[in-house]
Amino acid sequence: MSDEALLEIQRCDVETDRLNHRRLNMDQRGALEAALAERAEQQVEIDTVAAARVEVASRQRRFEDEAQIVSAKADADDSRLYSGEVQGIKDLEALQHEIAGLRARQGGLEDQALEAMEEAEELAGRVTTLEDARVDVDTRISTLEMEITTAEAEIDVEIDLMSIARAVAVESVDPALVERYERLHPGMGAATVVRFDGSNCSGCPSVMPAMEVDRVKHEASGSVLECSECGRMVLR
Ligand SMILES: [Zn+2]
Repeated sequence: MSDEALLEIQRCDVETDRLNHRRLNMDQRGALEAALAERAEQQVEIDTVAAARVEVASRQRRFEDEAQIVSAKADADDSRLYSGEVQGIKDLEALQHEIAGLRARQGGLEDQALEAMEEAEELAGRVTTLEDARVDVDTRISTLEMEITTAEAEIDVEIDLMSIARAVAVESVDPALVERYERLHPGMGAATVVRFDGSNCSGCPSVMPAMEVDRVKHEASGSVLECSECGRMVLR
């Protein structure tokens, strides 16, 4: 009976390794990593657009303020023109010329303010698009995190069951054999304990020498031997 329990210990270890591998390498982890990278990239873009919006808003304000100053100056000149305080033809012409120049400058500044406003609108549109995209990626991230937590919990239940089954199996095996198995298992993995197939150890590619086969055949059924070729634990 003890030989079967040794195989059960091995089965539990192999299954536990497989479960741990599945836990570490589930598809959602890769997808989550990609989604987190996408969010980080989005954040950079959001920050860039936010900085551009601040710059554009202050530019718009500056042009509007300057246009207002120039407009006030032109208005003041207009008043002087019609107040009668400027009399000479030459002076009047000079004043008119100055007013025309100021109005032209005011128009230019207003155009630039308008341009900045259009830029601001375009940036606001980009912010909306980026925010929608962020909501989308945030949703994907929380869904993936939930899926991972659920899958981990399911796998952990299976790992616990394997650990219980292994503990039960260990109870019925000679502690010296368990110790030998545990020493060999890291290097030999799923084929640490193998069955004697009647003429070979079934774990290694070497053919057992006839004398060795003869020796194994004469051992009691159920005994645990060592393959002289590979060192595996061979169940007679
Ligand atoms: Zn062998």
